[in-house]
Amino acid sequence: MERLQKVMAQAGVASRRKSEELITTGHVQVNGEVVKELGTKVDQNDAIQVDGASIMRENYVYYLLYKPRGVVSTAHDDKGRKTVVDLLQDVDERIYPVGRLDYDTSGLLLMTNDGTLANQLMHPKYKIDKTYVAKVKGIPTNEALEQLRHGLLVDGHKTAPAKTKVISTEHRRNTAIVQLTIHEGHNHQVKNMLAAIGVPVEKLRRDSYGPLTLDGMTSGDYRELKPAELATLR
Ligand code: URA
Repeated sequence: MERLQKVMAQAGVASRRKSEELITTGHVQVNGEVVKELGTKVDQNDAIQVDGASIMRENYVYYLLYKPRGVVSTAHDDKGRKTVVDLLQDVDERIYPVGRLDYDTSGLLLMTNDGTLANQLMHPKYKIDKTYVAKVKGIPTNEALEQLRHGLLVDGHKTAPAKTKVISTEHRRNTAIVQLTIHEGHNHQVKNMLAAIGVPVEKLRRDSYGPLTLDGMTSGDYRELKPAELATLR
């Protein structure tokens, strides 16, 4: 549910201030009834008219993409590289990713045209847990993992406590697979955190975003969120 004047402004009817004026002066109808209260909230199913003309509202869509490595997670790329938007070819709406994954990182990326939800999810106060699986050079010691669990200084800021464990090790090759769950989203955060404890990342994948997982998907797959999944994000 969103405030009527906000929906009107988003639909390009007028600025939010002007939309408020249109409401209070009786120009706006919701489901056939004139509405003059500014507190009125509406959702996707409400029909809104301004001076008898229906306003066009964007149909919000929500997709989960298993981003492959070697694709940028912006809508356009100056260097002409393939973008995540190019991958969702049969989607007509102008969707964009919620947050970013590095070019060489694969994994779960949420894509939508719902700016309100996207901004909400990206706001640090929502603390959405994201789980990453990294192949690292070296085998982290318990003390090193404890540093991640307590928080450590990375790029001049102290990271929040992370959940982490070693999934497997290969001593002969001196590599390990490490799982790390964080809710922050600074640039290259996982790579920087693991480099800071002495085990640089060779390969990185994001396996979950809040309650969403990549279960049953392979690299390059995408699907719409189920209504129940969407409800858990709101
Ligand atoms: N942390 C990183 O270092 N890279 C990503 O793509 C995501 C999180």
